[in-house]
Amino acid sequence: MQNAMLIGGKFVAGTEGEEIILNPATGQTIVKLPEASPEQVDEAVAAAEHAFARWSRTTPAERSSKLFQIAAAIEADAEAFARLEAQNCGKPYHKVLADEIPAVVDCYRFFAGAARVQSGSAAGEYLAGHTSMIRRDPVGVVGSIAPWNYPLMMAAWKLAPALAAGNTVVLKPSEQTPLTTLKFAALAAGILPEGVLNVVVGRGDSVGAALVGHPRVRMVSLTGDVSTGQKVLAAASRNLKRTHLELGGKAPVIVFDDVDLESVVEGIRTFGYYNAGQDCTAACRVYVANKIHDNFVADLASAVKTIRYDKAEDAENEIGSLISARQRSRVASFVERAAGQKHMSVVAGGHPSSGKGFFYEPTVIAGARQEDEIVRREVFGPVVSVTRFKDVEEVIGWANDSDYGLASSVWTKDVGKAMQTAARLQYGCTWVNCHFMLINEMPHGGIKNSGYGKDLSMYALEDYTVVRHVMVKH
Ligand code: NAD
Repeated sequence: MQNAMLIGGKFVAGTEGEEIILNPATGQTIVKLPEASPEQVDEAVAAAEHAFARWSRTTPAERSSKLFQIAAAIEADAEAFARLEAQNCGKPYHKVLADEIPAVVDCYRFFAGAARVQSGSAAGEYLAGHTSMIRRDPVGVVGSIAPWNYPLMMAAWKLAPALAAGNTVVLKPSEQTPLTTLKFAALAAGILPEGVLNVVVGRGDSVGAALVGHPRVRMVSLTGDVSTGQKVLAAASRNLKRTHLELGGKAPVIVFDDVDLESVVEGIRTFGYYNAGQDCTAACRVYVANKIHDNFVADLASAVKTIRYDKAEDAENEIGSLISARQRSRVASFVERAAGQKHMSVVAGGHPSSGKGFFYEPTVIAGARQEDEIVRREVFGPVVSVTRFKDVEEVIGWANDSDYGLASSVWTKDVGKAMQTAARLQYGCTWVNCHFMLINEMPHGGIKNSGYGKDLSMYALEDYTVVRHVMVKH
């Protein structure tokens, strides 16, 4: 197992206190990792700054070739990456191998291509006797801070566009899930020039804060909690760093009364609980038309009770454990507070599972009202609430009545109704008759408290560049 950080092309151990890295599916320690010191963060930033001078002047074709090599190297080692990710996150191995690793590989391939086809406005003589042109140049050293829910994929979402655009990066994975990122660092060190990628490990308020506050870091990209986004923004304001914030979500799912009930139930059973609901786009806040509400609740409860999640045979599991004991007790307390209110009922699940590991039963809460905490706050666990609505105005109002603005979905056979509803939803993404489908060509990112800046797509590549005007007098 690679457990050294990568700083300026060298593999080094952190010199500060140790963090215990667990397998959340068993609760057992995998390894103890010392975190980076402030001096090591400094060294990583200095290495990235030094490397920027050359990397920023490579051609798009040169950078593209490196990203293709990275994609191929991950693909060639897919099983080992998947095994390690599964172990460190408590996910079923086969899910990581089938879903996450191919998406990671494709992300590097997409940005390898994208690096070579940036477009923009026409150069021209906008002032007589002068030619103006637009350049898109890299920002500089990017500090990237990733969460624990999809560690290798979140690293890819940050690194691929940043490197494609010609930036150099200091990446900090979550202190809970650094293992695949360290394995990736070892792989990338054989492909990228020294200092282009640096990886430091440690906690947010020590290593993360040192990176965000560093005066030589020009941009910070964070995927994490809203409160972390606020701290990052406050720290970044001191030297006016660029920020790119992908924060939480509470996705509304609007189910009109003309749907094929079976396919909606199957959709929520899948997309409400994928990754044990530890997903910022999870289909967790379901609004169902009055006419079909009772049948929907009954069918969803039955379906959710069949989700396989804590079987000894990993290949049988559809979802894994929660990331930590702390996360599980957080989820449990949301459900207990909801269950304690008369108008709500827990119609599936509702308890931590006994046995080892941090598993929680897939849960459905019926009878939730718009003002309830379970409808308003992000649980980040396998918990879906269902709320009955009477008409389209009511449900669009409720869907938009949220601090979050990341993802949403609309389910109906009426194309016109789907389009009208999608147009009025205040979310970075709206899916129609599906949920959770992310593709590298299309942007992912939020509005409101879900943050700003896009991951994936040409928009992400643009986010990691600065627009510059060059004017030539004839
Ligand atoms: P978190 O905010 O606790 O941690 C995220 C990262 O930020 C970690 O690496 C952490 O060490 C670091 N961090 C924490 N405090 C910091 C500080 N003061 N300065 C610098 N860095 C700091 O989030 P998490 O618990 O790892 O992840 C779950 C959250 O991430 C959820 O709220 C979820 O919705 C969100 N998320 C959002 C998206 C998205 O695309 N919008 C994707 C995945 C997860």
